[in-house]
Amino acid sequence: MSVSVSLGAMQDAGFPMGGEPSVAIDLVDTVMLAVDPSVDLLEDRAATWWKLQEARLPGGETPPGVAVRRLRGAIRSAFEARIEGRAPSASAVEDLNSFAASVPSSPRLEVGPEGLRAATRWHPEYGGNAKLAAIACEAVLLLSDPDRAARLRHCANPRCSMIFLAENSRRVWCTANICGNRARVARHQRRQRPAKQG
Ligand SMILES: [Zn+2]
Repeated sequence: MSVSVSLGAMQDAGFPMGGEPSVAIDLVDTVMLAVDPSVDLLEDRAATWWKLQEARLPGGETPPGVAVRRLRGAIRSAFEARIEGRAPSASAVEDLNSFAASVPSSPRLEVGPEGLRAATRWHPEYGGNAKLAAIACEAVLLLSDPDRAARLRHCANPRCSMIFLAENSRRVWCTANICGNRARVARHQRRQRPAKQG
């Protein structure tokens, strides 16, 4: 899945975070857990989110919200365990595996103007939702790749629950224009404040 979604396009559509190299990460970031009460960004914008992710997912029906939330919960739980250096819970592993197995896939050779390329054919005729299966497969591949999984991080803002893949090891904020900027402003204000005497 080489087609990517840009953070700018996600933010224009009202999602503070997105455009990570994996749809599984973008899905995890559709809920804001560090605010009280938590905000589920898919509550009223699910159709927009799926439209933005369309190019990097198999076709077919948009999955039902209940199933999406269940997969999102399992991926978040497994990602957080990885970030904290713990083993994932048995229920998260079981959910991920059952979503990944819900639609089988097979490799497919395609002949194009630039030569041969491998594509993936999903088989929803056996039931299940191909988009959810593809996202679960992405999460399985990410978690089982030690180098990539080691780059999973929480945003350094304690009031932000977003998770990202730090392809640049110096990246500490989910977004430069939201959390990174907030931190820059706070640093600036600390410098401007006169030092207290006595
Ligand atoms: Zn953040």
